[in-house]
Amino acid sequence: MDKSRIDSKKERLEFSPTVDITLLQGAGNDYSSQYTIIPGFTDVHVHFREPGFSYKETIATGSAAAAHGGYTAVCAMPNLKPVADSPEHLAEEQEIIDRDACINVYPYAAITIGQKGEELADLAGMADKCIAFSDDGHGVQSEEMMKEAMRTAKSLDKIIVAHCEDNSLLRGGYIHEGTYAASHGHRGICSESEWRQIERDLNLAAETGCKYHVCHISAKESVDIIRQAKKSGVDVTCETAPHYLLLDDSMLEEDGSWKMNPPIRDKSDREALIEGLTDGTIDCLITDHAPHSAEEKAKGLAGSAFGIVGIETAFPLAYTYLVLPGIITMEKLMDVLVYNPRTRFGIPLGNDYSVWNLEEEWTINPADFLSLGRATPFAGWRVSGRNYLTVCGGKPVYQI
Ligand SMILES: [Zn+2]
Repeated sequence: MDKSRIDSKKERLEFSPTVDITLLQGAGNDYSSQYTIIPGFTDVHVHFREPGFSYKETIATGSAAAAHGGYTAVCAMPNLKPVADSPEHLAEEQEIIDRDACINVYPYAAITIGQKGEELADLAGMADKCIAFSDDGHGVQSEEMMKEAMRTAKSLDKIIVAHCEDNSLLRGGYIHEGTYAASHGHRGICSESEWRQIERDLNLAAETGCKYHVCHISAKESVDIIRQAKKSGVDVTCETAPHYLLLDDSMLEEDGSWKMNPPIRDKSDREALIEGLTDGTIDCLITDHAPHSAEEKAKGLAGSAFGIVGIETAFPLAYTYLVLPGIITMEKLMDVLVYNPRTRFGIPLGNDYSVWNLEEEWTINPADFLSLGRATPFAGWRVSGRNYLTVCGGKPVYQI
């Protein structure tokens, strides 16, 4: 194995996997120096749909899909049935994780009961059973509620992870409020609905001293205000996803595979996000892996459910379209896929790695996914980098 190609910051988390060569031979492949060993990816924003929506995804299929993508740790959002908003509901989810997950799955707990924004959940009762608190899928509309949540989270030394969306600015939109929406008769979601609430929360985080993490930023204004907040010492981190970095609304198609929340915005937003990634404003690259049934995604841009899958394609896409053209370095990609999320969320890196042939090209075909979800705007994209093996805690969890 060519260990010189492993990220140079390995010492930081003491990444020193014991690579079992027989696993590669067992996969029917000759051991070859063309393999690159990469530390296990971490995605702090996935939807694995169980309990409650196992027709969309299960802990078993979601974690298998993650292993296929080279992930060994993910944090699962609490918008389940029941919502993970009490110690009992979390225990129900944890039981499925313990039984079915092939990688490390860390559950989030909801900030408010039922993620309704009306009553604070029992944060203290859930603190030692969850990775952090989030009402992902919904913005917490009440400033008072968010302040109380941050004060409580601060006292528990937990992170508030916020999906920022001001409902009063939505006006029934479902794609970005930009050129495409205007010229194709669609209702748009303005960028202000995102950054207004981030701005509010950053003030609250400054006031309460709470650790604050912003979900899936999509707009250039969001990058700017988070950059400023970091400079002024607010304890904030944030994330974005490959689709916000690689796509813009000039590429939109009349297909539910292009619908997610927040929406793909315009070219200037995309460029600002890449700049934010480069200068360290954006800490984590997540997928917001959000599977739905084929039927739920077959109703065009207006009628389909929000959300796309992405955990099986994130690394090859980022490697092919950001690293190979020299837009970001491989070291940066490792920071945002491995080290930053693990450091921020306190997720240990054990004997967790994947083994890639970075030169092997393939075409993204949703029929090949292990996820039950198939909706991706990247179907048909040519990528470089194929995963041959994922090992989590020393055990093989994916083999080609
Ligand atoms: Zn969200």
